[in-house]
Amino acid sequence: GMPRFGGEDSPSLQMAQRIARVQIETAAALELDYAIPEKLERQIGIGTRVMVPLQHQRVSAVVIELLESTEYNAKLKEIASLVGSRPMFTPGLLKLANWIAEYYVVPVNRVLRTMLPQAVREKPETFLTDSHLKLAKEPPPDVFEKLHSTAPMQARILEKLRSNGGEATLSELRRELPRATAIIKPLLKAGWITRSEVRVERDPFQTEEFLPSQPLTFTEEQKIAYEAIIAALDGKVKGEADTLAKTPRPELRTHPTLLLHGVTGSGKTEVYLQSIAEVLKRGQTALVLVPEISLTPQTIERFKARFSAQKDAIAVLHSHLSDGERHDEWFKIHEGRAQIVIGARSAIFAPLDNLGLIIVDEEHEPSYKQEDAPRYHARDVAVVRGRIERCAVLLGSATPSLESFQNATTGKYELLHMTKRTDGKSMPLIRIVDMRLERRKGTEVSFTNTGILSQKLRNAVNDRLEKKEQTILFLNRRGFNTSLGCVSCGETVQCQECAIPMTLHKKDNRLVCHICGARRVPPTKCPSCKEPGLKYSGFGTERVEQAVREVFPQARMARVDTDTMQRKNQLRDTLKDFRAQKLDILIGTQMIAKGLDFPNVTLVGVLNADSALNLPDFRAAERTFQLLVQVAGRAGRGEVKGEVFVQTHAPHSPAIQFSRHNDYEGYAAQELEHRLAFKYPPFAHMVLISARGKHEAQAEFTLQTLHKRLEQDLPEGTIMGEPTPAALAKAHGQHRFQLLLRSDKIRALCAHVKRVVEGLTVPSEIYVSWDVDPMNV
Ligand code: ADP
Ligand code: ZN
Repeated sequence: GMPRFGGEDSPSLQMAQRIARVQIETAAALELDYAIPEKLERQIGIGTRVMVPLQHQRVSAVVIELLESTEYNAKLKEIASLVGSRPMFTPGLLKLANWIAEYYVVPVNRVLRTMLPQAVREKPETFLTDSHLKLAKEPPPDVFEKLHSTAPMQARILEKLRSNGGEATLSELRRELPRATAIIKPLLKAGWITRSEVRVERDPFQTEEFLPSQPLTFTEEQKIAYEAIIAALDGKVKGEADTLAKTPRPELRTHPTLLLHGVTGSGKTEVYLQSIAEVLKRGQTALVLVPEISLTPQTIERFKARFSAQKDAIAVLHSHLSDGERHDEWFKIHEGRAQIVIGARSAIFAPLDNLGLIIVDEEHEPSYKQEDAPRYHARDVAVVRGRIERCAVLLGSATPSLESFQNATTGKYELLHMTKRTDGKSMPLIRIVDMRLERRKGTEVSFTNTGILSQKLRNAVNDRLEKKEQTILFLNRRGFNTSLGCVSCGETVQCQECAIPMTLHKKDNRLVCHICGARRVPPTKCPSCKEPGLKYSGFGTERVEQAVREVFPQARMARVDTDTMQRKNQLRDTLKDFRAQKLDILIGTQMIAKGLDFPNVTLVGVLNADSALNLPDFRAAERTFQLLVQVAGRAGRGEVKGEVFVQTHAPHSPAIQFSRHNDYEGYAAQELEHRLAFKYPPFAHMVLISARGKHEAQAEFTLQTLHKRLEQDLPEGTIMGEPTPAALAKAHGQHRFQLLLRSDKIRALCAHVKRVVEGLTVPSEIYVSWDVDPMNV
């Protein structure tokens, strides 16, 4: 926007004064100019956070530009103070913030806020400190002697320091003498000891030991992939090694983005580790994004172990850190001590300097998309950051998103393949079980009729139990029964706030809404027609556990879902037990689908492969394919070949058929054909506009108004739908409507959307939001 000046009008001309243009953090797209007071001149640079006066208040702001003069001949107000001792945003991150603001149509201040962890933003540089105490000089023996009787505590501290090599921290002393803080005062005053403040890092891995690991000798496929990545570090694209020489200004050349399509177990992580080692050798830094759910102790351990020689080399950023830990990890990066950052989505904003490589593992994961403003996609932001910082970007997946795959086939990204597992094992055998037939058979045991465990899967589990091998049963739903319906009128018991059926959780006999968490005692009569005939149907993990216990009472099993894994470390402990073969069967939701490697698991059962397929989302089939391939990857990681049973009511759907043969290319080809025919991503970008509110008609009307305005001057090539109720038509008591726009010219479309929504007055109880490249449509 057009910058305005921050001072009150006063007609005097400012000459050759240093001026900072700042973005106010609390106001959308408000850029103002302030004078830099002489005393702060040295400390203020681009990216510095400052406090500035604004309308009788002091507000925080970020310096985005330094100017010699401004077009406003007014007396500028001065910057009041600094926040933090060094710039908190690198020039690269400021550019990235602008890109995000423009692309996702969000105010830039919102992006800047998102870029800093809350603890860093609100309490920067509030480190935990401790006093380091040193014996400065020994008191003369007679004084010391007297001290023993007059002030025995003081004497004890001196003794302690003496026996401790002349030094100790205050917190160490306080463990023995809780009042040490007071007791040391006279000692300091007498000059016998000295005190200095030292920073104590809050390290989430303080107590862990990491045994150093050595690089493995690459397989042929890994070597080829690695060499392409190393070439990319130099800005080279495979097969055009000398274009670099021909580029007139090689320093301006952007580095390539690579897509590593490697089957599970093909050794992608090992390739990452050795590529990063090379990056560090060049004096550069590396950023690794991992989906939150895969950021397990196991993953972190592999990185920490490889780079254990250097104490602070790795910083970890994810949502399970305490605020203090996150603050300290962030400053470890900011102060240049960490060369590698591993983190979930928002770690893409880590303030690393001199980036050499950005890796996005499991790049297809929908969790890379942030679901509130700014609704950015971390993988796409990674590619843009790579362009801005001129570093290589590596996307890795066993089942790449169709967006990335299409970018690779059209040559925008460079495609790397790893088709074989490092252990030389073949992929597990995948068997499709048609549950439609299973139901008709009506075998003797009651639970098989409910369609939970097919006879075939039962036999397979039994076989594993006999052989002392392990089984994973996967179901993407928690709870006992997934709905309660009336046999008379057909209504299901729905959450009153959200238009979805409530799930029975039998352990506490409550119906629970999986959207808003509302709980109620199961009714005995239909809330709608008051008839007593209510019947449960659908099953979740809790029900599966009961069924499996019924059939295999001798088996040792555990269930892993958000209901059972409430206690801290419970997940870790359960997985440890499973790995140690103290458990035969693990039943779980997506918490166990990813990245886990158990050598003794030879059987995986997918209990309801259709649950994702039936979602009203154009990516439903893609998700199902990805999920099946991921889950299948859990079987047969050890000596014995694995087997996977996929129970489905749609055995002939492409997602199921192609996953059966682990045929990613075949799957992608047919799915891309569909997407092209209907102009869906990756052949168009989408913008999803939503309106929600307590009043259904008002929400709908708002979107209709918006629709009319968008219709005027709609950019050419845009396909606009009609306002419709969202798939989740009501949630948290609010009715939800949506409007979908598609275009292959996303910039023009976003600019149009921005113009229209900015000019719209929305009733106060209606919330309008928009999502560029939405994930759930
Ligand atoms: P991915 O990330 O592709 O699923 P990983 O990197 O986890 O694969 O590798 C799978 C297994 O193979 C791991 O146990 C890893 O230690 C091992 N591995 C990786 N590369 C090699 C190699 N070159 N030689 C032997 N084992 C390897
Ligand atoms: Zn609800």
